[in-house]
Amino acid sequence: MSTQMPPAHPFDDDKLREECGVFGVVGVTDASNFVALGLHALQHRGQEAGGIVTHAPETGFNQQRRMGLVRDNFTSSSMMETLPGTIGIGHVRYSTAGSKGQTAMRDVQPFFGEFSMGGAAIAHNGNITNALSLRRELIERGSIFQSSSDSECIIHLMARSMGRTIPDRMEEALRKVEGAFSIVAMTRTKLIGCRDPLGVRPLVLGKIGDGWALASETCALDIIGAEFVREIKPGEMVVITEKGVSSHYPFRPARSRFCIFEHVYFSRPDSIQGGRSVYETRENIGRELAKEAPVEADLVCPVPDSGTPAAIGYSLQSGIPYAMGIIRNQYMGRTFIEPTESIRNMGVRLKLNVNRALIKGKRVILVDDSVVRGTTSRKIKEMILDAGAAEVHFRIASPPTAWPCFYGVDTPQREKLLAATMSEEEMRAHLGVDSLKFISLDGLYRAVGEAEGRDPKAPAYCDACFSGEYPVAPSDMIEQGFEAKTAAE
Ligand code: SF4
Repeated sequence: MSTQMPPAHPFDDDKLREECGVFGVVGVTDASNFVALGLHALQHRGQEAGGIVTHAPETGFNQQRRMGLVRDNFTSSSMMETLPGTIGIGHVRYSTAGSKGQTAMRDVQPFFGEFSMGGAAIAHNGNITNALSLRRELIERGSIFQSSSDSECIIHLMARSMGRTIPDRMEEALRKVEGAFSIVAMTRTKLIGCRDPLGVRPLVLGKIGDGWALASETCALDIIGAEFVREIKPGEMVVITEKGVSSHYPFRPARSRFCIFEHVYFSRPDSIQGGRSVYETRENIGRELAKEAPVEADLVCPVPDSGTPAAIGYSLQSGIPYAMGIIRNQYMGRTFIEPTESIRNMGVRLKLNVNRALIKGKRVILVDDSVVRGTTSRKIKEMILDAGAAEVHFRIASPPTAWPCFYGVDTPQREKLLAATMSEEEMRAHLGVDSLKFISLDGLYRAVGEAEGRDPKAPAYCDACFSGEYPVAPSDMIEQGFEAKTAAE
């Protein structure tokens, strides 16, 4: 679940955060090592906890779940020896609303269910928008939930299904689920992948030797030396054994609505999404931004690291030199796990430092990927002015984020989003910068390859956090009082 969350990390509360990454592999020796490497490559999608499940004929299913980073938990030989087998899946996650911002161990995936025809483990990226009503119904009918996660509904729905095989039961369960899901699951011998009918969250297929891999992003295939075969299609379920891949389409066909924010920020720049290099798309966004919002200046500087490709694009298009005006401390990571108040007050300075010699006396264009609460943008502006910049112009590589995401991304409540309560000029004044411009929604669509911009009657992507038009009604949130967009907005 994705809203009303305190920050998982005290210095990073001003970004939207992808909540999960999933990975699975079949037909390889020591599957757990591949899964750990894949999850390590997906760590940007979730840093609070991770888990791996494998199966070996001698041991049956093996499971390990841990709080913290993959590299801190799934590297020692003593740990990996507990996860034997040639098939395995894994999951990395942020905390969820259900666990009140602190990931509880019982919420760490993959989840496991024992059925009459054998066990199955499931790892889910996304968010089930009718989870509350499903959960209520399942509890009334006798299900006993172990976690506060929306994803556990899938296991209980599978338990109630009369399907003869686990893939059959999964199909039936997923037909009752609304929202966004990219799922990697496994039985003793089968690796299963499935995307929701709109394909909101990503899932890709790779080939490694005689085996196969499924991953949230292609960067996780690269790290294990797997070849990228293709994306799992929206609404497609693949069942993979050591013999090969079979495809099923359990849902009514729908027009694809991939998350456009994956291109802007969530995915790693070295991944391929929707057949496009994420890096190149971000550079295109910068070029579009330079066309839409030019300004006279001396330097184009990214807010590192996510603003970098867009800043390069802006510089190339405008002819204004690109420069590293802000330097990120590469070793910040989770150095201060429990920061004292005085360290916490240093805030963004712990992560970023201004390159004073470069900035002094210059008119600076700062390119960032998004403005969420605006707290970080204000601090960065102060740092740049303290360093003697003559002017500060913000250029943002996404439209104003004015609506929460209900499809697996951690967003503040709507009233905490700067763009939900202020006009662009009010935001400029609030941030205290000389100018502030966001890329338009049409400009963003052009940058992702839609030459005509956004088709308002049939948008090609989910863009609800910008447009307020939700492709799947967030029924649980509406039940809890969320006010969807009105015709006047
Ligand atoms: S609401 Fe925004 S972040 Fe969420 S899936 Fe849609 S585009 Fe992505």
